[in-house]
Amino acid sequence: MTRGRPPQAANAKKTKAKSKRTETVSDEKFATLKPFGSFVVSDPETKEGYKFMKEDNAAILPHGRDPEAGLDEEQYWIGKIKDIRAEIHDDGSNTVWARVQWFYSGTDVASVVKSFDESAIGKYEKVFSDHFDYVGPEAFNAVVPMAKFNENDPEPPFIAWDRFFRRYNFEYKTRTLKPKPGSSSCTCKLPYNPNDTDPSSLMHFCPRPSCRKAYHHNCLLAAKSKESSTTLISPSSPQITVSNSPRKHKRATRSSLNSISVKSIPDASEQNLAPDNPTFSRSFRLLACSPDTDDNVDLQSLIPLTVQSPAKLDDEAEESDAPPPLKKKRKGRGFTAKKRAPAAPPRWPTRTLADTLGELPFDLLHVAEQPLVRGAAFANGGVSGNIAFVTRARRLVYKLLQGEPLPARWEDVVFVEGQGADLKNAIVKIGASRKVLPPFVCPSCKSAI
Ligand SMILES: [Zn+2]
Ligand SMILES: [Zn+2]
Repeated sequence: MTRGRPPQAANAKKTKAKSKRTETVSDEKFATLKPFGSFVVSDPETKEGYKFMKEDNAAILPHGRDPEAGLDEEQYWIGKIKDIRAEIHDDGSNTVWARVQWFYSGTDVASVVKSFDESAIGKYEKVFSDHFDYVGPEAFNAVVPMAKFNENDPEPPFIAWDRFFRRYNFEYKTRTLKPKPGSSSCTCKLPYNPNDTDPSSLMHFCPRPSCRKAYHHNCLLAAKSKESSTTLISPSSPQITVSNSPRKHKRATRSSLNSISVKSIPDASEQNLAPDNPTFSRSFRLLACSPDTDDNVDLQSLIPLTVQSPAKLDDEAEESDAPPPLKKKRKGRGFTAKKRAPAAPPRWPTRTLADTLGELPFDLLHVAEQPLVRGAAFANGGVSGNIAFVTRARRLVYKLLQGEPLPARWEDVVFVEGQGADLKNAIVKIGASRKVLPPFVCPSCKSAI
């Protein structure tokens, strides 16, 4: 396991943080030195230069370790470079100092705060401390990426399991972590443990603005936070709850969707994610749970009404592609046509939700209809799960329903470039199991999660 700066060293007031240099620098002296934005360390053998900049997170040779000894990557300490200054000597040479803010390992924190449970700290997780030191450039090994993970963020970065990340800040003097582990998640107040590979420890996230909380699989089961009521379906609103029990009901077909019927009783345990069956499926209700509003999204109402031009009023709806000669004929009828104009506004078939969803890319809809899940049992989700992908996919689907054009590559909207994630990281799959997740609802807002 990667070690951060040990608290023993942290306790030492005047630590020599580098391996060979014997002197250090005082706060007063450092303040008088000339500031720089970066420094370059060149490898004595290859002569290759490595640049370190302010705000970089860097792997740093632990105090007292010989740089020649060769360390594994995870044996280095990690610090954020907050300031770089140099003393310029009369002969033109200089002495560089970097002020670094240390990242602690879980073990480091546990040795300071006895009540701290380090087992819930991820293998590559670091705790950002408020402990600083001055470090000479020779101790710097490499710049390391450090992802920032906020458990309540509906768009956290994708964090592969072998990538460093931070979610807590540690205040050394008050011995406190912020946010307090577990304070912002589940009813049980136990924190998300990225090391726990048990499928029953998966966390289900409600993305709604007033919720934005994740709940343990087990806690949801214990609270019976599942869809189970028998409310009939309202055709105009996705605010529907359906019966689980009549398993004999086949899943609704595309044709039955086109004639939305309040009599249909879909099988809510049906986990079919196909876009040709959105209205009565659980996926439809998942899709209606928005990261941007506390109301259920009425998906049908997002679709713009198609208004026919008056010139076409006396023809059938299907005549939108009517050939020009017909129009000429109509014009010729002139006054007669006016007389035949209907007194009441004509009704035109509304574009159905099923039709509109059916035209979207299958994979995009598939992502948007996923439950938002994280946990080691969903290995492809990485530390932060599929939350961000599903959030962005739902937002895009809402826009497309409203008539916005499909981007050239929807994948670029859903999977942010450079994070190394794609479709497989967004689709929930729990090991080799084909078992579907229970139809959970949020304990707070009761929407599908
Ligand atoms: Zn819980
Ligand atoms: Zn909720």
